Amino acid sequence: MSQAEQRSHVIDPPPTSVPSESTFHPGRRSTGELVPSRYALRIGDIDVMVISDGVLPLPTKMLGHNVATEVRAAWLDEMFLPKDAFDWPLNAVVVRSGEQTILLDAGLGLDPDLQLPRAGQLVKRLEAADIDLASMTDVVLTHLHMDHIGGLLVEGVKERLRPDLRIHVAAAEVKFWEAPDFSRTNMPQGFPDALRTAATRFVSEYGSQLRLFDDAVEVAPGVVARRIGGHTPGHCVIRLVSGNEALTFAGDAVFPVGFDQPDWHNGFEHDPEEAARVRVRLLRELAASGELLVATHLPFPSVGRVAVMGDHFRWVPVFWDY
Ligand SMILES: [Zn+2]
Repeated sequence: MSQAEQRSHVIDPPPTSVPSESTFHPGRRSTGELVPSRYALRIGDIDVMVISDGVLPLPTKMLGHNVATEVRAAWLDEMFLPKDAFDWPLNAVVVRSGEQTILLDAGLGLDPDLQLPRAGQLVKRLEAADIDLASMTDVVLTHLHMDHIGGLLVEGVKERLRPDLRIHVAAAEVKFWEAPDFSRTNMPQGFPDALRTAATRFVSEYGSQLRLFDDAVEVAPGVVARRIGGHTPGHCVIRLVSGNEALTFAGDAVFPVGFDQPDWHNGFEHDPEEAARVRVRLLRELAASGELLVATHLPFPSVGRVAVMGDHFRWVPVFWDY
């Protein structure tokens, strides 16, 4: 959000359905999007680009369904966030290591039934970044929720991918979606069915390209996927290490509220207690190492570090490097 938009937000919040590219017209037609949607950095010899897939407006209850409404409202208030629904950022990452180009998660794709028109921008934004779908050698999926696989289900995308593309995902994740348990989740109506359908369709469309791993796999030099479970049983994180630098892409192991309130149960967690344990362990590791963290639903470009204060954590975003 630009400073101008932030200022106007205080006085008169703009309707959330207005696309950001139409909010500022200083007298001439713009050829591109007004908001930045990609952010590049290097981890040693590894090139990294965070790409925004857009935003997902979701009810605020999803942030912590095990706490009282007033407690959630107080946190939202402290964060200057609206109390009913706010936009979850949605980030994917492109990594180049050695001869390989690797996509970490694939965004939402298209699902008009769920009224999420501002997400699903990944393919368009890859094109804007001059990244050809056919250049991808590998995809790593943190898990099989729709907002992480849907970009590959958009019509016409599969045909543009290399036929020998490898898609790495934990074996436990694929197994889980054969009979997924939603009894501990707390999602808006329609989501469990949509998630189940998307995961099933993904496995059937890309089954022959899946490369399953149990605990960990080195996908490319310095690019290691490690299963940590929690959010879903086969959820993995991807760690990039080169020289003396490291970055962890944490997928849905941590959400914006997860630093202040690591024990809040996110509505999309299939085993919320385990998800909280996994989150705290990961945040402690990241705080100890001081390495960079990128996560799917942290504010774009979601590059930062973790500080720890007793039982609480603090998100420390990097200063953008221009
Ligand atoms: Zn997600």
